Amino acid sequence: MKKSPLFIYSTRIGAYYHLTPFNQQTLNLETALISAGDFFHMENTLKKLESQPNMSFRKYINQEKKTLYMSSIDNYKMKCVERSSNYDGVKITQLGGNKFIKNQQYNNLARLINPDILVSLTEQSEIQTGYNSIKRSAQKSAKFLKESLNELKDTQICIFGAIQGGLDIDQKIIAAETQRFAADYQNFKGLTLYGFNQEDSWREKDMAISAIQTVFHEYNLQYVLAGHGEILSILWGISWGIKGFEIEEPFRFAQNHKALLLPKLEAKKTELQCLSGDRINFYELEGKKIRFVNFAVTSDSKENVPIDPECSCVVCRKHTKLYISHLVECKEMNSQVLLTIHNIHQYVQLQQKLEEMHNQQQLNQWIRWVLQQL
Ligand SMILES: [Zn+2]
Repeated sequence: MKKSPLFIYSTRIGAYYHLTPFNQQTLNLETALISAGDFFHMENTLKKLESQPNMSFRKYINQEKKTLYMSSIDNYKMKCVERSSNYDGVKITQLGGNKFIKNQQYNNLARLINPDILVSLTEQSEIQTGYNSIKRSAQKSAKFLKESLNELKDTQICIFGAIQGGLDIDQKIIAAETQRFAADYQNFKGLTLYGFNQEDSWREKDMAISAIQTVFHEYNLQYVLAGHGEILSILWGISWGIKGFEIEEPFRFAQNHKALLLPKLEAKKTELQCLSGDRINFYELEGKKIRFVNFAVTSDSKENVPIDPECSCVVCRKHTKLYISHLVECKEMNSQVLLTIHNIHQYVQLQQKLEEMHNQQQLNQWIRWVLQQL
């Protein structure tokens, strides 16, 4: 991965697309999450793009020079991938509803999009369906992974397996073991971990990730945490060595009229020195909350001051909470745009700080220090 940690920003929920190219540029985002379901309908367009020498998918979607990450799972849709009795594919939510697609089509689409990272196609197993059904889904996902590794061998695409199964330890182990064969492939680079979204279950998350990492302990794999990319999940994941994070929270917050308030990021050297560098314990995260302003309900959003006077984003420099409240009340789309800009700016600051602490080898100390403030 080009950066550590790598924040993979979702292009979903409209907000990213609502931003004008000018706004996108100022935010300087270096990644984009491509949700496969959004692009199956334009296979012919993509083929045409491929035949034009100066055109590419990246240029087409105005995301040049970015790290593209392609996935079949779209967190924004409740059920984006459904089981199918056909062993060659799954049902994916697309423009015209749920349609069956073969893994072959998924790989063809990946070839046209040419992402830096491709998460292999995966079938979501349902806990209530019983052991045999879970095993069958896991084997199907492993089959998809093997096909992608073989079919895309001649490309530069880094392929990641998908580990499903909520926080259920047995399911996690089945998913990991059925995909262990992939470690022999040159283009297999890591795993995307699903099911870690549940809040306040830090202990179960510890047990689930530990089970996966035990299966792959001999290999130098990279992990991506799927989901919304809440700040606490990022802090937790980093202490477990996770390098990549799917990020949707800043957009989601903006859509719900919320502005993030990051905790203080600058620690004094002496404050970090006295803290342990060991992995974060689950109980250190329990009960912790990230603050925010909710423009739809809180009365303090009517003040004639910036969202965060210490934030250097263009919104906090030029606009007040009162103005944003006014936009929210009028149902102006610009409220979402401004809140997106502020929220993303917070994430960019966090990413930079984490990178700095990673380089100084003080990540766990710093995370511990942040958690103590919350
Ligand atoms: Zn701001």
